[in-house]
Amino acid sequence: MGKSKIKEYLENPAPLKVLENTFMEIKKIQEKYEPFITITEEHAFEHLEKKIKENPEFIGLPFSAKDCLCTKGILTTAGSKILNKYIPTFDATAIERLKEVGILIGKTAMDEFGFGSFCVNCHYCKPKNPWDRHRVCGGSSGGAACITSLLKQPHIALAESTGGSISCPASFCGVFGLTPTYGLVSRWGLIDYANSLDKIGLMAKDIFGIAWGLNVIAGYDGKDSTCIKREKEDYTKYIEMDVSKMRVGVIKNYFEGIDEHVEKAVWIGIKKIEGYCKEVEEIELPLSEYALPSYYIIALAEVSTNLAKFCGMRYGYEEEINENSGNFNEYFSKIRAEGFGKEAKRRIILGTFYRKAGYRERYYIKALKIRALLVKEFKKAFKKFDVLASPTMPIVAPRYTEIAELTPMQCYAMDRLTVAPNLAGIPMLNVPCEKVGNLPVGLHLLADHFKEKNLIALGKFFESPEPEEV
Ligand code: GLN
Repeated sequence: MGKSKIKEYLENPAPLKVLENTFMEIKKIQEKYEPFITITEEHAFEHLEKKIKENPEFIGLPFSAKDCLCTKGILTTAGSKILNKYIPTFDATAIERLKEVGILIGKTAMDEFGFGSFCVNCHYCKPKNPWDRHRVCGGSSGGAACITSLLKQPHIALAESTGGSISCPASFCGVFGLTPTYGLVSRWGLIDYANSLDKIGLMAKDIFGIAWGLNVIAGYDGKDSTCIKREKEDYTKYIEMDVSKMRVGVIKNYFEGIDEHVEKAVWIGIKKIEGYCKEVEEIELPLSEYALPSYYIIALAEVSTNLAKFCGMRYGYEEEINENSGNFNEYFSKIRAEGFGKEAKRRIILGTFYRKAGYRERYYIKALKIRALLVKEFKKAFKKFDVLASPTMPIVAPRYTEIAELTPMQCYAMDRLTVAPNLAGIPMLNVPCEKVGNLPVGLHLLADHFKEKNLIALGKFFESPEPEEV
């Protein structure tokens, strides 16, 4: 691994200079690639001034945040029109923690509320792939992956995954993306997609950035009842961890039906690992076949209740209330019809259907049972293996023209390799392993609950490719 830019910066922080350079770069990047919904230049310099006064040693590493994370005094839209005026009065816990050592540079583009795999369901902008502007960045944390790949200054990105929203864009853009164990990072201040699945994680250009960022954001928070109390770990020290006794399982059935070039590229990554570890063996996880339908039932059932609060009264989008606004139901329907995008509406309808009396047992409860079995299957695999490996996505980043022809079901099927580990709440890391032509391919590494260290230890053997200067 080459020297980490983030590590270099931390050894010798120069926040003012780095911030100036960052915003100079961002202007060019935003014009061509649109990774941001909001650029927070003014706030950034104000924050720096305040922090430097308090502590002249302030590190001030630039970080970006996916726009579903609440940021005090800064527009927070979750990619949706319905939140086009929402300015939170508080910071999410992960933001608050990072602001102690870093500077927020902007809020990154995402599919509306996280609904998508390509970042084209964003009301404000559609980030372009750093390797080919005619291709998507992946979703839903597309803006985070885009800026992580393109920015030359040291930077880490806060992102979020429900069913693969960190791994997918990290794979399509060629960066590291960590989705931590469910409950390791506080979700307080996150605009929920599906509470039982949402995880706040990180993207960075190198594994050190991921490990360092996790040190900052992981840890108990009384404001999130699902956040787990555990002893603090120093994740950066695992970069040096000896992996020679590690056993890696390659999930054979995750290769079925994937693009043959992607398959080859992923095997190059696995061979690299093989050179360092004790054993690399194939394994089957047959229950993963049921993960996709289970995920879309559980996630959408939660969506349909979570989105009920967006009725134009307490949050964001509001019509002028006048005599034409009608009664409550008419007003409520008008706001939701105008404020939600097509995919959000589809998911509200589907989720409501799954929860209906009579269907609950048939779909929702069954999906929960499958989820429990999936956890068991992973747990069994981790008795034998320290890490499981598979492709992250079945394809390289597709062109906008290609995805325009996909049906919603075909779009959902893109997530088939990432939903099972997300349902199980285990940590996962996308590492950029090879390129197919000019396009990056990601290798997906999975570990048992709270075994992020195994992922970090293997992550060190990989490097993000550098796209051309913007
Ligand atoms: N693509 C998946 C979905 O649309 C996952 C998105 C996510 O993780 N937020 O649900």
